[in-house]
Amino acid sequence: MIEGYHKLTRQQQLEQLAQETDVDLSELTELAMDSIHQQQIENYLTDFNLPEGIAVNLVVNGQAYVVPMVTEEPSVIAAASYGAKMVQRAGGFSANSRRIMLGQLLISSAQPAPIIDYVKKQKSHLLKVANAAHPSMQARGGGAKNLRIRQLTATKLSVDLMVDTREAMGANTINSMVEAVKKDLVTQQIDVDMAILSNLADQALTEVTCQIPVNQLGVEVAKKISLASDYAQIDPYRAATHNKGIMNGIDAVVMASGNDWRAIESGAHAYAAQNGQYQGLSTWDVVGDQLVGRMELPLPVATVGGSIGINTQAQLNLKLMQIKNAKQLAEVIAAIGLAQNLAALRAIVSEGIQSGHMRLQAKSLLIEHGATQAELGDAVNRLVQAERIDAKNAQQIIKQLRK
Ligand code: NDP
Repeated sequence: MIEGYHKLTRQQQLEQLAQETDVDLSELTELAMDSIHQQQIENYLTDFNLPEGIAVNLVVNGQAYVVPMVTEEPSVIAAASYGAKMVQRAGGFSANSRRIMLGQLLISSAQPAPIIDYVKKQKSHLLKVANAAHPSMQARGGGAKNLRIRQLTATKLSVDLMVDTREAMGANTINSMVEAVKKDLVTQQIDVDMAILSNLADQALTEVTCQIPVNQLGVEVAKKISLASDYAQIDPYRAATHNKGIMNGIDAVVMASGNDWRAIESGAHAYAAQNGQYQGLSTWDVVGDQLVGRMELPLPVATVGGSIGINTQAQLNLKLMQIKNAKQLAEVIAAIGLAQNLAALRAIVSEGIQSGHMRLQAKSLLIEHGATQAELGDAVNRLVQAERIDAKNAQQIIKQLRK
């Protein structure tokens, strides 16, 4: 056990780490970095790099985008670009989004009726209290806009504060607001157990749709894509994987834009279970001669706040996408998610997901086993033709090339 690690100097931290682990001090010294991130997180050691690539062909609301995506998974960017291209040929995606965030005050009481009555009667006073806790948001045209009270059980209540956080995700703003409301309620002898933002941002939904002529895909493929989406509506095992494919695209852009992907993940999955059963976030239906794709999910992403301001790469990525506001960013992200989903479903119901992945998988495996840049081209060709793409064959191929 390491106690007081955060109080040690950097050199002492490295020495302590070396002592507690099997890693040499020299290796740790080489790994350790000095950077701005030292101020950002606790017990900073180094930066952890992930690859960033560009998805192309995306058209949303008539505008063409190049989309930076941060992901370690091969074939995600290729699939997003391919899905986007199928939709681009058919006119592109349509998307719209709204943004109200929600904070909760959770209250338990044996007698909830007077509390419900008080909160309803004092709604405008409580909204004023919330806004006074972060007046700059109201000055921007945002701020606390509404409040409701829900009875969760016979003795438990949730007061939900709805806040327009403008260009920010608003977690900290909302937390300050609900804590101020909590203080006010306490003066009325109302015991508030917790006051905190909810990540089920179901008032910050982004909807994206697209239509592709059935004959562009082939009637059979279009019908099978629709069938695949039906399975995700009726079976949570299938829905989890269906949504993982969507989040492959969404997370990659959320990360590239410096946003909090845990917030987006938790909101998306909570929303996917809103009907009491976990379901696919998107649906695909054959309507007449069109395959119609639709998806709606919470996407409270931001263009300011959090670490976005100090993340120069995120700033550049927002510029690359020519993003003017948070709503537009949410719409682009939702479209990438649906493009990703389309490409994955098309592959699964036709040639199977593995064939497209094979070259990329082979490449990753060869890199892992030490293939150099110069060896990769030949090595990949040999490995995809091998009986199996596995570590043993990868090692053998590298050996053969070096003979
Ligand atoms: P910040 O605390 O950074 O607040 C947003 C900042 O942006 C404010 O300081 C605001 O200034 C400024 N700002 C400048 N221009 C605008 C504009 N046009 N619209 C809105 N704000 C503007 O971030 P958030 O409150 O957004 O919180 C996000 C962070 O909170 C993320 O890092 C997230 O990871 C983290 N977080 C997430 C939680 C969760 O998801 N459950 C919980 C807790 C934290 P001003 O002060 O003048 O209004």
